Amino acid sequence: MKIIQEIVQLQTAISKLDLATIGFVPTMGALHEGHEALIKKAKEENDLVVVSIFVNPTEFGPHEDYESYPRDLEADAKVCAILEVDILFAPSVSEMYRNNSDISFNAGSSSKIMCGATRPGHFNGVLQIFNKFFGLINPTRVYFGQKDAQKIALLRAFVHDYYLPIEIKMVPTVRDLDGLAYSARNGLLTEQERQQAVELHRALLLAKARLKDGEEQAVVLMQARSKLEQTVGKVDYMEFLSYPDLTKDVHASEYKILAAALQFSTVRLIENEIFE
Ligand code: AMP
Repeated sequence: MKIIQEIVQLQTAISKLDLATIGFVPTMGALHEGHEALIKKAKEENDLVVVSIFVNPTEFGPHEDYESYPRDLEADAKVCAILEVDILFAPSVSEMYRNNSDISFNAGSSSKIMCGATRPGHFNGVLQIFNKFFGLINPTRVYFGQKDAQKIALLRAFVHDYYLPIEIKMVPTVRDLDGLAYSARNGLLTEQERQQAVELHRALLLAKARLKDGEEQAVVLMQARSKLEQTVGKVDYMEFLSYPDLTKDVHASEYKILAAALQFSTVRLIENEIFE
């Protein structure tokens, strides 16, 4: 496995690959079983796998956890080596944002709802960094966890609109034994929050079953929300929308997304269910 921190080295390595299919797994590091599932899927479907580890400052708001986000490149490199990743790209912030003009990105209206409502500018930062990654890595397929369904919807629309020959793949969320989705931030939950965090997945599963049974949407969502309000967390949003368009017109859409975010003292957890 090559560990690369500089863009020129990455460009040289990528340019030598000729016709190989490249599976790209973008991460912020602190790798866990969820990331591992993406890497394994990418290994199965491509000639080569590139994993990036980059905590992108332009995705974080001024009061978010950019500084305290867990970082451990040495441990992550070991995980990637075991999984036979071909290239681990772990650039510095100055490397990724060197030569920056003042060109900016507007991720559009669907980036202002759900996670975008409380994280203004987050998805603009996502588009900015993915433009760079796509240009540098030229991936055939890019792998995301279902947890990031809103990011997946945005990037699918983006590659479609701009004719980028890139497939955006969604991998099911990987969970701990009690159902809590693995996250680099789970270790920052207090003991009580960790116990209650599982309610997020439970509430969505129950609400999904009730919606599929044809129960009234407003009632189901309100009850799911009030279940979560019994935890020490604060419900950031609870939305039932069409997927991937993310509109209120759920009945016109084949797939729907039921998504929620729960804000604990220092950690915000996101979760979703996508169904017909
Ligand atoms: P992050 O490092 O949090 O930016 O996540 C990198 C990628 O891993 C994203 O595509 C996430 O959706 C995905 N991911 C994070 N947690 C999980 C999980 N528990 N199961 C599956 N994929 C995940």
